[in-house]
Amino acid sequence: VTSEFDLINRYFRRATPGALLGVGDDGAIVQPKPGNELVISTDMLVAGTHFFPDTDPQDLGWKVLAVNLSDLAAMGALPRWVLLALALPAADEDWIAAFARGFFSCAETHGVELIGGDTTRGPMNFCVTVFGEAPTGEALRRSDAQAGDDIWVSGQPGRAGLGLASLQGRCVLDAPAQAECVGALLHPLPRVRLGLALRGLATAAVDVSDGLLADLGHILEASKLSASLTLESLPTCNAFATVDADLVQDCMLSGGDDYELLFTAPINLRPRVEALADTLQLALARIGSTAPKGYKTLRLIDAKGAEVQPTRLGYDHFS
Ligand code: ADP
Ligand code: MG
Repeated sequence: VTSEFDLINRYFRRATPGALLGVGDDGAIVQPKPGNELVISTDMLVAGTHFFPDTDPQDLGWKVLAVNLSDLAAMGALPRWVLLALALPAADEDWIAAFARGFFSCAETHGVELIGGDTTRGPMNFCVTVFGEAPTGEALRRSDAQAGDDIWVSGQPGRAGLGLASLQGRCVLDAPAQAECVGALLHPLPRVRLGLALRGLATAAVDVSDGLLADLGHILEASKLSASLTLESLPTCNAFATVDADLVQDCMLSGGDDYELLFTAPINLRPRVEALADTLQLALARIGSTAPKGYKTLRLIDAKGAEVQPTRLGYDHFS
């Protein structure tokens, strides 16, 4: 039988040149670059709640880290280090090897080093803590949006929600749409480069993990503002064209798990945001604007200029 320590050494111990001390002692030792602050975030993923228990372990390894890096991206922080605490029902080495491959593939892609963790037996559960850095005072917060800012969103929110709907049999997608949407669900791409570029450009940012309306709500609440969104300006893609329009709108506004960035920026910086989309080869859509706090926190405007109600989630929150 493989011991806990053998498992750790075999699958989770890698060189960590960016840390003073990595895996193997009672604690890791790190030092952010001079003039930087640490930005820290943690996220727990529980089997059955956040992922199907039979999810491919390599996809799972990627995703548990990717969703945490997405939080650092939303803060405009550079990812540096990560802690991985995991509970597994049994020491299935093939499973663990595949999980570690996915995890380190995400780690190497984003230049983050695994410096420690905890490994125990129990119902499958992953707790990842990421450490990033940002120059003093420059990390992005939810609370600094200004009235009259543009609201922007990256990529294609709604794909992951549609992928989930198709896995749950709530819709049927053609093969390319299925691949794109399920891919977005299982293999999210944290917008780390975008987050870094938004320092000094965005006034506030959040990652879209709970749904666009719900996460925009966090910025509005923290910044004490209201907003209006124009439905026509929401980004769309080929995968959406073949699906029921109500389901698509529901996934775009209220579907979770997209890990795109939603941010606010002053109107006069529009050209810089547009240039950034070119540089990063990443779609950035201007979907609305903020306003002083009003009788209503959020207004959704359709193509004819009429106000519409979202079908679910965030609905109460905004009424
Ligand atoms: P302790 O008993 O002091 O808490 P552990 O036996 O839990 O230490 O862990 C031994 C070393 O292995 C520690 O440095 C810990 O950070 C690291 N570690 C444990 N599990 C993991 C893991 N899944 N990934 C990376 N490092 C781990
Ligand atoms: Mg321990």
